[in-house]
Amino acid sequence: MGGFFGAVSERDVILDVFFGTDYHSHLGTLRGGIAALTENGFDRHIHNIENTPFRTKLEKDIMDIRGRACIGCISDTDPQPIIIRSHLGTYAISTIGIIRNIKELTAEIVDKSNIHFSGMSGGKINTSELTAALINTKADFVEGIKFAHDKIEGSISILILTDKYEIIAARDKSGRLPILVGKDEHGYCVSFESFAYEKLGYKDEHELGCGEVVKITADKLEVLSPPNKCKKRICSFLWTYYGYPNSHYEGVNVEVMRYRNGEIMANADKEKGVAQNIDYVCGVPDSGLPHAIGYSNASVVPFARPFIKYTPTWPRSFMPTNQNVRNQVAKMKLIPVTELINGKKLLFVDDSIVRGTQLRETVEFLYENGAKEVHMRSACPPIMFGCKYLNFSASTSEMELIARRTIAELEGDEGEKHLDEYADASSERGKKLRETIAEKLKLDSLEYQTLEGLIEAIGLDRDEICTYCWDGRE
Ligand code: SF4
Repeated sequence: MGGFFGAVSERDVILDVFFGTDYHSHLGTLRGGIAALTENGFDRHIHNIENTPFRTKLEKDIMDIRGRACIGCISDTDPQPIIIRSHLGTYAISTIGIIRNIKELTAEIVDKSNIHFSGMSGGKINTSELTAALINTKADFVEGIKFAHDKIEGSISILILTDKYEIIAARDKSGRLPILVGKDEHGYCVSFESFAYEKLGYKDEHELGCGEVVKITADKLEVLSPPNKCKKRICSFLWTYYGYPNSHYEGVNVEVMRYRNGEIMANADKEKGVAQNIDYVCGVPDSGLPHAIGYSNASVVPFARPFIKYTPTWPRSFMPTNQNVRNQVAKMKLIPVTELINGKKLLFVDDSIVRGTQLRETVEFLYENGAKEVHMRSACPPIMFGCKYLNFSASTSEMELIARRTIAELEGDEGEKHLDEYADASSERGKKLRETIAEKLKLDSLEYQTLEGLIEAIGLDRDEICTYCWDGRE
């Protein structure tokens, strides 16, 4: 995924960008960087943040930098921001999203303009460098950004810091990811997460529309290109999983949506009379917790945390390269509260069920600790399609998705023709899918939030939300 933050002001903004970018650390674990415009030109620092958080890595770098304009990013893919020299001037650029036709575009650019790219490890091309190359084919930033949006298959949101103390921000053309602008009495900032600037004392000023391009300077926000006419498709997973609880997108707060989502699932169970005799409602940490709070509130069954992650010495970004060590770390992190498990009937809520591997281990862990019953609720419908728009963990091959794998096991290729039925819990195929997965994962019952329930919990018009993962709707 990834996230970015930028600010331009009459005052020094380096610390704002340092903290503002750090507040995007939940969106990526590979690289973190900042580019500041100082009296001596651009000053850029990028670090590997796989095992050490952004703040710790960048702390020393920023001590001596002073600047009134700066951008920063957390990236799950490429080292960023990168500095570009072109006929548009010298600028720093950072991007989030995914370019699916990267090979074709690279070949086209090399062919037409004889530009060469600095290869990265594994022979990959830096996404921001490629985006900049597309932008540079046009006479100005706006035309260049529009051209890049047109050419790129996938989604790309762009943040540019020019050498004239301007920040240009462009939201991806279908608005799958958010970009918001904040304002204080000295200037403006731009951010993926709204809480990042609220915490820094900025107030909401503007939320970009699909493909919209804006420019911020210390004294004004200017719309360079208004939102396009594309259908908005903001990613639903922002609310169910990866968005930060304090943030709001399109006016909808993440935490509040998650409570609502849990409540809707609890009411559906109540109506159907299933799992009505349980001891505790629990969330799979961390992103399942708020959905579980909502479920508990509506079902009036107490909320409990029968296992808790030990995080002080294993922050989220601790990623040993060895898979065995990684699995061991995942296990070591989970500490049971046996008093809340032994002999208890537990209903867990998870944000989603993708491959099911981790879930099976969690359920085994609960039985090993004496659970009497384990029921599972997924805060979103069965995932039927891998994401093709973002660099997201559900961007996996379809046969890795537990729902699709199980459908294939049940009736081979024929199953693909009935995905709608499988998604529907009231159909025979839908029931079979849930029973089979519950059996595989050794669950006493398994249910998913419905698509209607999810949309109701978000509260936006269905046409504004991306639901491709679940119904394949483009
Ligand atoms: S396909 Fe899924 S993960 Fe991708 S943008 Fe749409 S809702 Fe989000």
